[in-house]
Amino acid sequence: MLQTTAVRDGDHYVINGTKWLITGAEGASFVIIMAMMEDGSATMFLSDMARPEIRLERLMDSLDSCFTGGHGVLHFENLRIPAADVLGEIGKGFRYAQVRLAPARLTHCMRWLGAARRAHDTALAYARQRQAFGKRLGEHEGVGFMLADNAMDLHNTRLAIWHCAWVLDQGHSGNRESSMTKVTASEAAWRIVDRSVQILGGRGVTGEAIVERIFRDLRAFRIYDGPSEVHRWSLASKLLDGKIS
Ligand SMILES: Cc1cc2nc3c(=O)[nH]c(=O)nc-3n(C[C@H](O)[C@H](O)[C@H](O)COP(=O)(O)OP(=O)(O)OC[C@H]3O[C@@H](n4cnc5c(N)ncnc54)[C@H](O)[C@@H]3O)c2cc1C
Repeated sequence: MLQTTAVRDGDHYVINGTKWLITGAEGASFVIIMAMMEDGSATMFLSDMARPEIRLERLMDSLDSCFTGGHGVLHFENLRIPAADVLGEIGKGFRYAQVRLAPARLTHCMRWLGAARRAHDTALAYARQRQAFGKRLGEHEGVGFMLADNAMDLHNTRLAIWHCAWVLDQGHSGNRESSMTKVTASEAAWRIVDRSVQILGGRGVTGEAIVERIFRDLRAFRIYDGPSEVHRWSLASKLLDGKIS
């Protein structure tokens, strides 16, 4: 579905297209552009951002605010890239993206696990000291069970991340493990942070508690680096084809 195109013109490639949700576009010195070739394959190109043919139209107003440079809309208008600035080989863009994606996804998983842990710690501290209806908040079963569920989600997410990191350390591609870990981590972190908001009551949805910001920043993680449904769809295809069991 890649719509940005690269067409060969002598010793150059001419790139045209628009990309949105480009994280860190503002302030970036260079950009890696993935473009569709005439034969339907994809190639990565390197370019300085300070080229008049690259236009940062706007920054998108998004739920999160944790990424330096925000999320930009970029236009490439007849951008001429010398063949020497092709990253790797022509037509290998998707393969290179796969190599990058597994460890890159894992860094997101680790970061959001840490943020979920912080939200849980904040909620736990509150549940320990807040008195409600004659006892500590956490002693009410409804709240205690949420804390226990948080602890289990944190534990299982950490194990999934460790296992995927171990698979990558063995020199494997880790595609299956990183897919499963990404879905596990993004959905578990969401549950943990949502419960933490609930335990904190009113302050949980205000800037008085860091949890409100984590909640906003985390939501997009179930979409970028592959929405949960796309990972499930991909895993299901591999299961049906007998590539994994
Ligand atoms: C905060 C943020 C930062 C981003 N940063 C970057 C960036 O730096 N660079 C970059 O290139 N991109 C970036 N993206 C884009 C991101 O990769 C895409 O948004 C993501 O891959 C989903 O694609 P889409 O938005 O086109 O949704 P669509 O493809 O339109 O999908 C919409 C929804 O349909 C469902 N869906 C789609 N396909 C399937 C399927 N096969 N089976 C079942 N359900 C399906 C999913 O629920 C999905 O969420 C970013 C996105 C966000 C939200």
